[in-house]
Amino acid sequence: MLTFLMDSAGIVFLMYHELGLPGRATCHSEAGYVRYVVPAGDFQQHMEKLAREGWHGQNVTQSIDSFSAKTVCITFDDGAETDLISAAPLLRKLGFGATSYITVEYLGKPGYMSHAQVRELHAAGFEIGCHSLTHPYLTDIDNDRLREETQAAKDKVEQIAGVRIDHFSCPGGRWDVRVQNAVKQAAFRTMATSRTAVNLPTTDSFALGRVAILNGMNSDTVFRMSQGKGLAGMRMKEQARDAVKRVLGNSVYDSLRGLIVREKPR
Ligand SMILES: [Zn+2]
Repeated sequence: MLTFLMDSAGIVFLMYHELGLPGRATCHSEAGYVRYVVPAGDFQQHMEKLAREGWHGQNVTQSIDSFSAKTVCITFDDGAETDLISAAPLLRKLGFGATSYITVEYLGKPGYMSHAQVRELHAAGFEIGCHSLTHPYLTDIDNDRLREETQAAKDKVEQIAGVRIDHFSCPGGRWDVRVQNAVKQAAFRTMATSRTAVNLPTTDSFALGRVAILNGMNSDTVFRMSQGKGLAGMRMKEQARDAVKRVLGNSVYDSLRGLIVREKPR
C-alpha cells in the first residue's frame, strides 16, 4: 500500500547546491561544502536519465499543486551562479522547471549570482525561493533574528526578484516548530527541510522532505531515489545523526564533523 502511494501520489524533491564546472573555483573549498558540489556533467546525466525514462522535472509550486506521476521536484539552495549559467540552459532544453532558493547576503559574493542574475534566472523559467538572509541555523537564533531571517528575507528576495516569493528552505536543514511558525507568519506557502522523505498530498507543507544529491551520485542512483526507492534506509541513518546533533548541539557537532571529514583522506 505504501509503495502504491509513493508511486502514484508521492513526489520526491531533489536538493542540489552549486554545480562544478571544469576550471572554475567553487564558492568554498572545505570538504563539508565540496561534498554537495555535483559536477555539471553529472547533473546533466541525472536530468537526461529522468527525461529518457519519461519523467518530468518541476518547480515547487507545480509539484505541490499537481502531485503528478513520473515527476520530480528540482531544487537548488544558496543561489550559486551555476544555477543560471549551467543548470538553467540544460533544464530549459529538457523543458524542466526548478526552484532556486536564494540566500540574500550571499548575492554578489564570488561564485554567487548578482541581483540582476536572479532576475535573469527567473526570466529563464526558474522559480525563485528564499533560503534566509545570512544562512544561520534557524534553531539557534532568538525570535527577533528569526523574524529577520524569514520575514525580512522574504521582503528582500521579493524586491530583488521583482516577484512574489512563496517558498522557503531551511539553511543547514535545521528546523523545529518555532522555525515553522516563523515561516508561516512570514506568509510563505511552504517550507522545505533536508529530511529524507517522499512528499505526499497529506505531508505538512511546512515540513517538506528533500533528498540531498551529493558529489559522486550517478544517474541510476538519482533515478532510483526520484522513485522513492531506498529513502527509508537513508532516513534511518539520518535520524541517528539528528539524535547526535540534538545531544551535542550544532556547534559541537559541526566541529566534530569537521575533524572527521578532514581526516578521512588519510
Ligand atoms: Zn544552504
